Amino acid sequence: MVLFLEFTGTILKYTQNLVHQDNFMKADDLAFDRRHIWHPYSSMTRFLPSYSVISADGYKLTLSDGRSLVDGMSSWWAVIHGYNHPVINQAMQDQISRMSHVMFGGITHLPAVSLCRRLVSMTPPGLDCVFLADSGSVAVEVAIKMAFQYWQARGEPRYKLLALRHGYHGDTFGAMSVCDPDNSMHSLYKGYLPKHFFIQPPGRRFNDSWCEGDDKELVDFLALHHHRLAGMILEPIVQGAGGMRFYHPEYLRQARILCDHYDLLLIADEIATGFGRTGEWFACNHAGISPDILCIGKALTGGALTLSATLTGRHVANTISDSDAGCFMHGPTFMGNPLACAAANASLSLLEDESWRPRVAAISSELRAGLLPLIEHPRVYDVRVLGAIGVVETKDSVNIATLQKWFVDHGVWIRPFGKLIYLMPPYIISMKALRQIIEAIVDSLDVPVHFLL
Ligand code: PMP
Repeated sequence: MVLFLEFTGTILKYTQNLVHQDNFMKADDLAFDRRHIWHPYSSMTRFLPSYSVISADGYKLTLSDGRSLVDGMSSWWAVIHGYNHPVINQAMQDQISRMSHVMFGGITHLPAVSLCRRLVSMTPPGLDCVFLADSGSVAVEVAIKMAFQYWQARGEPRYKLLALRHGYHGDTFGAMSVCDPDNSMHSLYKGYLPKHFFIQPPGRRFNDSWCEGDDKELVDFLALHHHRLAGMILEPIVQGAGGMRFYHPEYLRQARILCDHYDLLLIADEIATGFGRTGEWFACNHAGISPDILCIGKALTGGALTLSATLTGRHVANTISDSDAGCFMHGPTFMGNPLACAAANASLSLLEDESWRPRVAAISSELRAGLLPLIEHPRVYDVRVLGAIGVVETKDSVNIATLQKWFVDHGVWIRPFGKLIYLMPPYIISMKALRQIIEAIVDSLDVPVHFLL
């Protein structure tokens, strides 16, 4: 009898696993999720619905109830080649059978070496030394630590950075300290965060003509305060989560010139913009500049696994390394994770033939054709498109819950926030599917309940 019960128990457990193997969530799984699991920027008491996804392939997400959604988000900039990509999957499978992880202290491996070789050759010139980390926020922490350790090593400690208002650099404390101190979600922690300096972001838009004096605030600030700064951090060209604004490349060029002039480190956070999203390999390429420190993440693995990197030049790396400290003081447990490196190598190999360029250009023109006319809509404040990024800024904040549901009911996955309905679809999206997303946005604007007046 005992044996029989054990046997049926095992069978039951096995079938339960089978049910879970196809990722199907039952009602009590959803209830557990709601009761016990934090989602990004979420409340445990005021719920926003979460949709159960059982699989994702190409540019489509499949929900538990069988509905299929066209993905407009690339899972927050990351899944540039689409989901379930056979080349990335194969690379990960091959790597798993060798080793999914091994420590990076005192050990090295080909997946990391191949990846860093690629990164050194594809990023803007001069970025020869690579630090691999776990997430975008950690890449920013590493960049800030590099800047501070560099100045310590020069015997002149400096712990202040210049950053742009409406900037966003991540959720960890160092990264939060250089996000917009008043208008960002992190203003909550203002009392605790180290104080840096902030100036207004450039007002001149990407496609406008640059006018002399457009960088006046930067010029004036640096003339007065450069001696107090270790460097300047910015998101080149595209300010992402802080407002989805696209600014003029000349600003970036001038920032480079001024940082050189005053001997300051320029840190470029390309975690969102890297790997083709803006129509160039990196947003810095629009201005033809190299930063002193570059942060990348998100699309680095094609969105398959989390991995980020902070690159710097030989001068910064050697100054830190030759200092009394004798090393750069950071070394995460999962640094250089071979599985993530294998996914990144596969993702970068898919980019290498540059076939992403015409695809990003096609997405861009479709976004322009579909979204720009919305500027006439009474609910719309602004519309902008750059590369494979489309933004509709509304006059009133969106009601995320109703608008998200409406999008799902119309077969598309878009995650608006604040006054922003924005798109960054996978590069492999079909034009027909892209039009479906655009039409959903256009139609959603006529439904008053989606907007908080
Ligand atoms: N910097 C930028 C520009 C980002 O867009 C993000 C993520 N939205 C981050 C840093 C932080 O990356 P992660 O979420 O991987 O920590």
